[in-house]
Amino acid sequence: MQEFEEKHVNEMLEMLEKLVNTDSGSTDKAGVDRVGEILCQNYEQIGFVPKVHKSEQYGNSITLRHQDATNPDILIVAHMDTVFPAGTASERPFTIRDGKAYGPGVIDMQASQVMVFYTMKALVEQQISAYKHVEIVLNSDEELGTISSRSLIEEKAKGKKAALVVEPAREDGSVVSSRRGSGVYELHIKGRAAHSGMNPENGINAIEELAHKILAFQSLSDPDNGLHVNVGLIEGGTSVNTIAPSAKASVDVRISTASQGKTIDEQIQAIGQQNVLDGIELTLTGGINRPPMELTDGVQKLVDIVQTKAQALGLNVGHTATGGGSDASFTAAMNVPTIDGLGPVGGKQHSSEEYLIVDSLQERMMLFCNVLQQLSEE
Ligand SMILES: [Zn+2]
Repeated sequence: MQEFEEKHVNEMLEMLEKLVNTDSGSTDKAGVDRVGEILCQNYEQIGFVPKVHKSEQYGNSITLRHQDATNPDILIVAHMDTVFPAGTASERPFTIRDGKAYGPGVIDMQASQVMVFYTMKALVEQQISAYKHVEIVLNSDEELGTISSRSLIEEKAKGKKAALVVEPAREDGSVVSSRRGSGVYELHIKGRAAHSGMNPENGINAIEELAHKILAFQSLSDPDNGLHVNVGLIEGGTSVNTIAPSAKASVDVRISTASQGKTIDEQIQAIGQQNVLDGIELTLTGGINRPPMELTDGVQKLVDIVQTKAQALGLNVGHTATGGGSDASFTAAMNVPTIDGLGPVGGKQHSSEEYLIVDSLQERMMLFCNVLQQLSEE
């Protein structure tokens, strides 16, 4: 394996440069599709058979199995989209400085794409049969909440013994063993307009109702138990001398367990139906859209494999919980033991300072190879 990585390290960086310099923001269908084509061409060269799952609005998602796949019961999930709009790649193209690589999507998650591909190439070239046991989903709209590709991920997760999600490792190199789930709600409040000086008694102030709702939502937070409810956006009213006829609140919810999700949803629905002021109309939309990924026994087993294999490579890899959701939440909700953050190490995702620690690309590729080998033999 050592020989393999040295031989291929420059090729890995060339592939990374090509991907990073291809704009692929989530809403840039043509760009995401170009990334998909680059990846498919590479995978075809090592005997993988791509299947394209077309989307009208977003990029096409792709699933891949090797032509000799016998029992592909390990799922790998990697998204192709970034948060950066078209034009970013020409503004700040791929560069390497002082051991770090920069450019749009370099760590989230084009480096992971390169890592997964070269892992497969290494396994195929060295005839380590693990490549026959994987199914890979390359999805197109993770950064939007996996709108079009969620059902594909869920379908492919069915019956798998493990799901490996290659979001980047944390800045300290840790993998992710639990994730909080999340939801978004919108509450629309309809009151009645009236002139605040001439006939205020005819009005019903939607902003006053909103004030009650804000406090009610905020009071649901239970930080000691990893539950956070945040009214993050509000709007309302039409002019200062009008009794506000409408108002709106957008609420972000983070949960640590599935049962918490159920309870909080009921509480939010209740608040969203019960008006404080007479004559107010309330409309609540939204819900919990990313289930939490909990540290189950199955996940702990995966963590143990990763840590043992890391140690053998001289790497110290911790595991941690994180607040944000990812596609790992969907596979975990299907009761498939899931581990995330298996990608290379870097940080500052979603910003112009986003970076990859270049050395971690080969380190994490080696680790991924060894983890897959172990998992496929179990
Ligand atoms: Zn990502």
